Amino acid sequence: MSSATVRIWLWLVLSAVAFAQSFEVRPPSAKQGDLLQLTGPKSAVAASFLGRRVPLYPGITPAQTSGLMPVPVLTTPGTYRLRWLDAKGEAVEERNLQVTSAHFAVQNVVLSKSLTELRSTDDERTQVASFFKADSPERFWTLPIEPPLRSCLTSPFGVRRAHNGKLTGDFHGGLDQRGATGTPIHSVAAGKVTLTGEFALHGGTVGIDHGQGLKSMYLHMSKTAAKLGDTVAKGDVIGFVGSTGRSNGSHLHWALYAHGEPVNPLQWVSLQPCATAKPIKRNRTSPSR
Ligand SMILES: [Zn+2]
Repeated sequence: MSSATVRIWLWLVLSAVAFAQSFEVRPPSAKQGDLLQLTGPKSAVAASFLGRRVPLYPGITPAQTSGLMPVPVLTTPGTYRLRWLDAKGEAVEERNLQVTSAHFAVQNVVLSKSLTELRSTDDERTQVASFFKADSPERFWTLPIEPPLRSCLTSPFGVRRAHNGKLTGDFHGGLDQRGATGTPIHSVAAGKVTLTGEFALHGGTVGIDHGQGLKSMYLHMSKTAAKLGDTVAKGDVIGFVGSTGRSNGSHLHWALYAHGEPVNPLQWVSLQPCATAKPIKRNRTSPSR
């Protein structure tokens, strides 16, 4: 072998080793409510961040693993340690990751007394909790995901909610899109339907497990069009817009969750605010909540 051939072989072997050992996090820094995509070598089977541990699954190549890590909306801006863990739970790589404020605003929602007093039933809570508990290890989703409606945004993710002028202490865990009653709602990605119901608080509901920790939920439907256990493709009709449950007018509330934590869908889909949407008051004093 000539020395040039040896050099090429050496380069190929070293690049293959470097590729198999590579750790990646996208985006490299995050805002409150973001979703991080992690990749690592085969030896990394889990990751930890902000006190949460998530599994990493076999990746696109056999030498890699990948997974999703949510950055909760209420995270105090700062720098935190992200760790990739082996089967024994030992860190095989760690690095600092900065979380910045998303500057979520405050939005007042006017609700009638009966809507304000509406509570979920025990059955609704149990069904929603078991929807979040079960995670399909098989990945059905691919990027890009598609919005469920081709309409504008009446309320973004993360805004601190006030009901009739009083802060609820809660934030908006999804997006509200304008839609006339009966408009078809499409699944944002492929997956399995693991929640359907006509609930007191959520109204007509469909929940989809997209696999490997990613889920989506669609609320206030006038009618659901998916059954438990159905396999859906991206774009399939899963129900119709309505105003059931705690809703003050026909619209779609939909949400994305990573390991049960709501994350900002606007990181992955682009939607325009409705021209007539009520202006939202910016909250300048405590942007971290
Ligand atoms: Zn909503």
